[in-house]
Amino acid sequence: MYYDLRLVTAIKGIGRVKAAQMNRLGIKTVQDLLEHYPMRYEDRGAITPIRALNNNEFGTIQASVVQVTERKPRGSLVITTAAVHDNTGSAVLVWFNQPHIKQILHPNMSIVASGLVEKRYGKTQLSKVEWEEAGNASTVGGIIPIYNSTEKLHQNALRLAIEIALTTINLEETLPHEIMKLYSLLPRNKCLVSIHCPSNKQELEEARRRLVFEELYYMQCALLYNKRQQQYSLSGIKHATNGSLFQKTLDTLPFQLTSDQKLSLHEITRDMEETLPMRRLLQGDVGSGKTVLAVLALIKTVENGFQGAMMAPTEILAEQHYRTLQELLDPLEVRSALLTGSISAKVRAETLFNLRTGQIDIIIGTHALIQKDVIFANLGLVVTDEQHRFGVEQRAQFEAKGRTPDVLVMTATPIPRTMALTVYGDLDVSTIKQLPPGRKSIKTYHVSSELRSRVYSNLVVKQIELGRQVYVVCPLIDESEDSDMQSAVALYDELKTKYMHNISCALFHGRLSHAERELIMKDFCEGKIQLLVATTVIEVGVNVPNATVMIIENAHRFGLAQLHQLRGRIGRGQEQSFCVLISDSQSDESLFRLRSMTETQDGFVLAERDLLLRGPGQFFGLKQHGIPELKLADVIRDLPILLQARQAAQTTVSTPTLMETIRPALDYYFTTWMTGVQG
Ligand code: ADP
Ligand code: MG
Repeated sequence: MYYDLRLVTAIKGIGRVKAAQMNRLGIKTVQDLLEHYPMRYEDRGAITPIRALNNNEFGTIQASVVQVTERKPRGSLVITTAAVHDNTGSAVLVWFNQPHIKQILHPNMSIVASGLVEKRYGKTQLSKVEWEEAGNASTVGGIIPIYNSTEKLHQNALRLAIEIALTTINLEETLPHEIMKLYSLLPRNKCLVSIHCPSNKQELEEARRRLVFEELYYMQCALLYNKRQQQYSLSGIKHATNGSLFQKTLDTLPFQLTSDQKLSLHEITRDMEETLPMRRLLQGDVGSGKTVLAVLALIKTVENGFQGAMMAPTEILAEQHYRTLQELLDPLEVRSALLTGSISAKVRAETLFNLRTGQIDIIIGTHALIQKDVIFANLGLVVTDEQHRFGVEQRAQFEAKGRTPDVLVMTATPIPRTMALTVYGDLDVSTIKQLPPGRKSIKTYHVSSELRSRVYSNLVVKQIELGRQVYVVCPLIDESEDSDMQSAVALYDELKTKYMHNISCALFHGRLSHAERELIMKDFCEGKIQLLVATTVIEVGVNVPNATVMIIENAHRFGLAQLHQLRGRIGRGQEQSFCVLISDSQSDESLFRLRSMTETQDGFVLAERDLLLRGPGQFFGLKQHGIPELKLADVIRDLPILLQARQAAQTTVSTPTLMETIRPALDYYFTTWMTGVQG
């Protein structure tokens, strides 16, 4: 058996009580225990004199205990402290809620202790302390694993259990020999021992590389295998090569496609002409010109006698796409329609009838498109805009509206390579990197609120006098729409009375009725409204080239991706645009985010930085995408290994003998995958 899926009680020394404690850490099977990898390591070989400890770093000391005290300041909180010293100075070790320490730690004991160092007012304190009696040869002087543990289940108990497992369990190889040889990977049994009990750093690194590779390799095999299964079990629509309608649409465009657009379009049409269904992600920064490619793809499916559908996350966006579409299609006798939640029942019924009977060629809409009663005559292509706003489930429902239609998903949130390979691993990716010609870069400033009045009275008013339009984005108060709206109203009143005399302003927020919103957007598009105070509802898609100023209040309240999206509303015309981020936040993270915004406009760079800030776990939401969380790999740091694993997986799924070999592992992966999705 590849993986040992017996319960942990199969290991000597683990009884029901211990097993229950392990359960709390998510450890059920022997395999789980072996994969309970250390969170970090401490090099106890490197003992530091107390005086030389660095603030805010983990450090290890060898010291003698002077006194142990216990306090119970409130509730059930127990604080245990130990005063210790070596011949360079003294320090205090602190534990929270570990009353047993008092029983085992005594004055005059010589101990080796490591912990997080805090130096304040000449005092040195260590928290998160792990310690051992000095002279305990098993741990002093080596690299010690530190596990995620609980109050009841301590480091030593975990270490011991894992050690027993490693020595008593038969650890079988889980990677095919060919792959191990090709990528110079060490055997699994050796690496499991090394990752839990490394004898030196190099050994640890090599073990880690192999185990990370394995984790990513199976993830990639699963993704690629799934994709193949789906593609082969379905025979998709084989579109004909581009015909005259396609060409005519291309000719009516008021501009030349950029070379990135041309390449992406080529990739899309080539996929559509294959029998295998297209599953392609088109990514490109805001304003890079994805919509026009979507329209061309939709035209291509119509030209082949099919219907096309495009789904957008908001009504505003859907309507805007619809307008773009109409402008292009009007002269071409292609029949199009719009379907959103606010269409009247009568029009909706009519639209659904026409859709079902094949009298509509292209339909644009919101979630309204995936409702049960929406039936297509013969759907050939589905396009999803702002893909990350929809769940896997919704994407699937949309695709199920046709019989294996081609699928194009678009996103303006640039997907870093790491993510394209994991979360979107089952999609082919086209990227538009360059913006259409003639775009001026946006001048971006970060200012404190002291300068706020100058921003409004100078920059904003002057730009409006020059005929430009302005967005002001209100601070997010919390997640509730009501308080966001209140802050928007307050800001609107302030601006109107203080600065914007004889300037037409409007307030735009999520609580307005659809008709009200539509009217405001229409007036803003037509230049009748000069300044728009808005909550983040304007985030995606809106396209008003004459708007050149974006003021974001309390900018630190927004994530990097969101700030970038907001800024993407301006810089769409020929005039110089300005983005002002108002914030007084002094936190390092906020400052880094705001500085990033002033430093670059490259969505990919910003997305990578966003990833850095948020860490992979949060950003990826792997589980949400139906992929099990990674135990060891860090897809940002381990990108080189991810690329190798991807390559190895590609070789594997296209080699039947290799597939045979990894079958059991893949099955195991899919079981965890499934339980992961349900959990
Ligand atoms: P996206 O959907 O990627 O955010 P859009 O498709 O809305 O971008 O394009 C933004 C604007 O740029 C639109 O007004 C569109 O007409 C225009 N545009 C698209 N491609 C080009 C091009 N190659 N040259 C000039 N303008 C373009
Ligand atoms: Mg768009």
